[in-house]
Amino acid sequence: MNRFNPESLVRQNIRKLTPYQAKEIPCRIKLDANESPFPLKLSDFISEIDVHLNRYPDPEAIKLRKALARRIKIPYTKIMIGNGSDELIYYLILTFGGPVLYPSPTFAMYGIIAQSVGVKRIESKLDVNFDIKEEVIDLIKTEKPRLIFISSPNNPTGNSFSTEKILKIIDTASKNSAIVVIDEAYQPFCSERGFLPFLKDFDNLVILRTLSKIGLAGLRVGYLIGNESLLFEINKVRLPYNVDALTQYIATVALNKFYSQIRKFITEIVKERNKMQKELSKIKGLQVFPSEANFILFKIKNSHNVYKKLLKEGILVRDISSTIKDALRVTIGTKEENREFLKVLNNILGEYS
Ligand code: PMP
Repeated sequence: MNRFNPESLVRQNIRKLTPYQAKEIPCRIKLDANESPFPLKLSDFISEIDVHLNRYPDPEAIKLRKALARRIKIPYTKIMIGNGSDELIYYLILTFGGPVLYPSPTFAMYGIIAQSVGVKRIESKLDVNFDIKEEVIDLIKTEKPRLIFISSPNNPTGNSFSTEKILKIIDTASKNSAIVVIDEAYQPFCSERGFLPFLKDFDNLVILRTLSKIGLAGLRVGYLIGNESLLFEINKVRLPYNVDALTQYIATVALNKFYSQIRKFITEIVKERNKMQKELSKIKGLQVFPSEANFILFKIKNSHNVYKKLLKEGILVRDISSTIKDALRVTIGTKEENREFLKVLNNILGEYS
């Protein structure tokens, strides 16, 4: 009897695909996934969960959309919720197709989803300062992408791109019938205001945000903001109940009743990031890059060994060296975690000198 081989049935583009790296690695201090370090227990802000589990969730997530709308002062009809912004990236590419253009290095899911859906990817390398090159403008004109993804602040480099540069990209895209998606996952930690104020000027602009980086990663809530005509099209591919009832309920309460606490956590993370940036820049042989996010990218010789030694001491960071030579990315933790990270890192580097 022939043994069934599923691989023979797998579509070509999926065969070549490397899945997103999300693994649970045991550690004492977790600084690898750009989460908030502040524990948020349900009992901290919810006494009763008023959800009827025998019923499907609200397919339109109206209460949650309205809670988000109040925060960002945009009508809720311009907001779509996803099971994380990952899901919304998937919906965007499924709806509009490719080519999909994005600077590189950037968040891996733009490329992974484009590849799974089977559309062409166009990558434009960032320059030595991790800034977007002028060639993006030419690529929009010559390659005619349908979607352009820009993460600002950018993951994993940490910098945000200048508003003028992005506006020029949106304007060029608008003249070439392309949609620009500004992924503002890290906007809460950034000194710039983001692109919400420009939504009224550009029909081809979409903004992605998430609750994952500000303390609610376990809930899986991402949201897309764009004009109703765009949302109408994307809604055609959205799965009927993509955000479960518990998530809708808890996220709504968190936004309505707990937001001032979330805001305090964000302020604390920004303060700690600035401190960490200073401390890292004092370390000889380490090159630290400016960050507007809740993580910092740095380069260090023997980065993979440094990563392993940190992990041996129970500290988990992200090894980025396969994408950026010698680079590690550290998420900002609590004050105590950051102090411990710096102490252990200094000890490890002391061994090399
Ligand atoms: N965009 C960027 C730039 C990210 O870094 C991440 C998370 N790593 C996401 C989107 C996905 O976030 P979510 O948890 O909302 O799916």
